[in-house]
Amino acid sequence: MKRRKFLSTAAVGAGAAAAASTLPKPAISQGIKEIRLVTTWPKNFPGLGTGAERFAQRITQGSEGKLQAKVFAAGELVPPFESFDAVSGGTAEIYHGAEYYWQGKSTGFNFFAAVPFGLTATEMDAWIHHGGGQELWDELAADFNLKPFAAGNTGVQMGGWFNKEINSLEDYNGLKIRMPGLGGEVLRQIGAAAVSLPGGEIFPSLQSGAIDATEWVGPWNDLAFGFYKVAQFYYYPGFHEPGTTLSTGVNRQLWESLTGDQQALIASAAAAENNFTLAEFNARNNAALNELVSTHGVQVKRFGDDVMNAIGNAAGQVVADAAAGDPLTQRIYDSFIDFRKNAIAWSRLSDQAFWEARLLPFQYERT
Ligand code: CA
Repeated sequence: MKRRKFLSTAAVGAGAAAAASTLPKPAISQGIKEIRLVTTWPKNFPGLGTGAERFAQRITQGSEGKLQAKVFAAGELVPPFESFDAVSGGTAEIYHGAEYYWQGKSTGFNFFAAVPFGLTATEMDAWIHHGGGQELWDELAADFNLKPFAAGNTGVQMGGWFNKEINSLEDYNGLKIRMPGLGGEVLRQIGAAAVSLPGGEIFPSLQSGAIDATEWVGPWNDLAFGFYKVAQFYYYPGFHEPGTTLSTGVNRQLWESLTGDQQALIASAAAAENNFTLAEFNARNNAALNELVSTHGVQVKRFGDDVMNAIGNAAGQVVADAAAGDPLTQRIYDSFIDFRKNAIAWSRLSDQAFWEARLLPFQYERT
């Protein structure tokens, strides 16, 4: 497979960033720091925007008001995909988003959000916190004047919304589909026209026909955007995002200006939100799925094994190609792939074996 240049996500959803000079400056008085927390999410969007709000509240309350974190939703201070540059450059102090939105800066960022056929939420946490992932992430982000943390997870996502059935790879030919990160690159390799759009731009693009299909997150989030109004088939599983880590990046000058307890507070707030967000997705997805099917008549379909196997082959090549871009990303890839091997070996005997056993036809519920 030919190596291709990765598209810059920064080019999509562009719009001039507000000039730095016109932005409010953080007030520093009596030891109080104002923190502008920019996000890639629409205002209070379930799980994503609300997770960012809770993260900000944890910081403000935990610091007894010494750190005043204020959330700016997508477009309120800067366009969503310019959050990274804003924090890197110091026109905001912290972002909340997902690292694959920054793949135009380095393909290495993808490994800290989602890798097609990569790691689940719990496996991502294991790699980041106990498998060397955080150290590699710190090294990558430091090149951009940032200190990163995992700060949420969506769990396994859905495969996407389509208006035609996907029975073979040919069905992806020429399909204009919204899919960010390495998943989008995989679909480009098999002939689709994949684009990365911020969440808020997806519905109008699908409605107008600018795109034919999309993925977003899962039933809870997808119900909120109303994709059932403009697409009929809802495919699973989300091979491209098996446990998407949401993230926060802190401007290094702010980070280094904080006291030790303030740094620990931000790290703890991110870790708390990392778990809390995943729990909320897991709690709310099933009810939302029921509503999509029962109330809105959505047809839920599973990708065939042949399609998954072929996409898996393409994914392996795309992920390896992404690594070859620079030495640091190669080290990130090597660490990730090694961890994935061990994660698969353990999950076969643990989660996977249990889930299969739980589906055996024994009588369990006593009513
Ligand atoms: Ca997604």
